[in-house]
Amino acid sequence: MFKTMRFVKNSGVKLKITFNGAVGRVTGSCYLVEAGNQKVIVECGMFQGLPEVQEMNYLPFNFNPKEISALILTHSHIDHCGLVPRLVNEGFTGKIWCTTATRDLCEIMLLDSAHVQGIKEREEEGGPQIYNELDVRKTMKHFRTTEYGDMCEIVPGITARFRDAGHILGSAIVELFAEENGKVKKIVFSGDLGPKNVPIVKDPEIIPDADYLVLESTYGDRLHRGFEQREEMLLGVIKHIFQKRGKLFIPSFAVERTQELLYRIRGFIEKGVLPNEKVYLDSPLAIKATGIFEKYFDLFDRDARAIRKPFHFSGLEYTRTVNQSKRLNNIHEPFIVIAGSGMCTAGRIQHHLRNGIDNHNNGVLFVGYQAEGTPGRAIKEGAKSVELFGEKHQIRAEIFSIDAFSGHADYHGLLEWVNGFKEKPRKIFLVHGEPKSAESLREKLEAHGYHAKVPKLHESFEL
Ligand SMILES: [Zn+2]
Repeated sequence: MFKTMRFVKNSGVKLKITFNGAVGRVTGSCYLVEAGNQKVIVECGMFQGLPEVQEMNYLPFNFNPKEISALILTHSHIDHCGLVPRLVNEGFTGKIWCTTATRDLCEIMLLDSAHVQGIKEREEEGGPQIYNELDVRKTMKHFRTTEYGDMCEIVPGITARFRDAGHILGSAIVELFAEENGKVKKIVFSGDLGPKNVPIVKDPEIIPDADYLVLESTYGDRLHRGFEQREEMLLGVIKHIFQKRGKLFIPSFAVERTQELLYRIRGFIEKGVLPNEKVYLDSPLAIKATGIFEKYFDLFDRDARAIRKPFHFSGLEYTRTVNQSKRLNNIHEPFIVIAGSGMCTAGRIQHHLRNGIDNHNNGVLFVGYQAEGTPGRAIKEGAKSVELFGEKHQIRAEIFSIDAFSGHADYHGLLEWVNGFKEKPRKIFLVHGEPKSAESLREKLEAHGYHAKVPKLHESFEL
């Protein structure tokens, strides 16, 4: 018996990583790390975008959830945490580790996802609901939190340390230390890395060393042009629409982008460059997210911490109920409405567009990524009409887009961050990018003397 146990212990799997998602695409992040007899996963995200990509959410996991000892989450975006309740439903019993702010945001994001899945199933617009609100409540009991900089033992033999990734509130770079036969190897997961010098969040922390690096490559082939002018551009669009006495519709993601918009508009009013115009935050999810941001103000950068209420001004109104939202249709004065969803695939923004996109005095402003196949992408790319609630609507409103509002570093930012390692990691795995972006970043890293690899889906590597 003793001999068998020893045998099992010593023959445990060598340190190994398997890429189960966010490979060749941005969504569905999921990486399995095996060390000794432990299996840990980093991220369990939802696949988003075209229907054939969304179908991947229904495929069996490439591992047995019952055999996974723990899960680590870098942040609360659905493409990083959106399948966690399914993992729990399929027998995962371990702990889920993340920062405290990420846990709070995950709760509202997962509840919202469950709610939207239910609506889509009823309206036969998507696949069957993967999990419901009760499943999310059950999942939340598995969460355990840690803070930036603390060493925390995830399972015996595997320790993690979370560092600020500067992407959204609570987002982390994860340093994973895996022990194998008395030797420790360090794998760093970049998570999603923010650009430098954006409001509210701090800049991503520099990591001095790693044996292996798993790096995001969302903008591996792009630079954020107009980054310095993005604030002026926002002000220009608002003033232009207000001069025409029109309404400005801003489809926005609930976490971070919405708070950034409020922060900037508050700044314009304070500087006296914009009158205290009416702004409606018409998204229950974004309102809840803003409340969580306020709770964690100690995580903000220095400038945001210096402001007592960085997301408030007297012209701002929260519209929580459907009736409050509907009342906006009867207002004929100019206003701004910030509403979800960010790509116009669901939510209250669809109602505002239905009511106002055919008026040439109005404007639609995109401040985030618009995936292929979404109404947002079609409008942004100049479609003449858009179908909403089964009806075609002529687009006469002016369409604006500020791509420089981004939660991700561009390739200059990514290279600068990688160059922060004092010693080059033995290998860099590129994930979370379309094939063109990942390949382009791989070439740039190789040119800088790094050994970089773009893994295939389900590909494993012994480390
Ligand atoms: Zn993200």
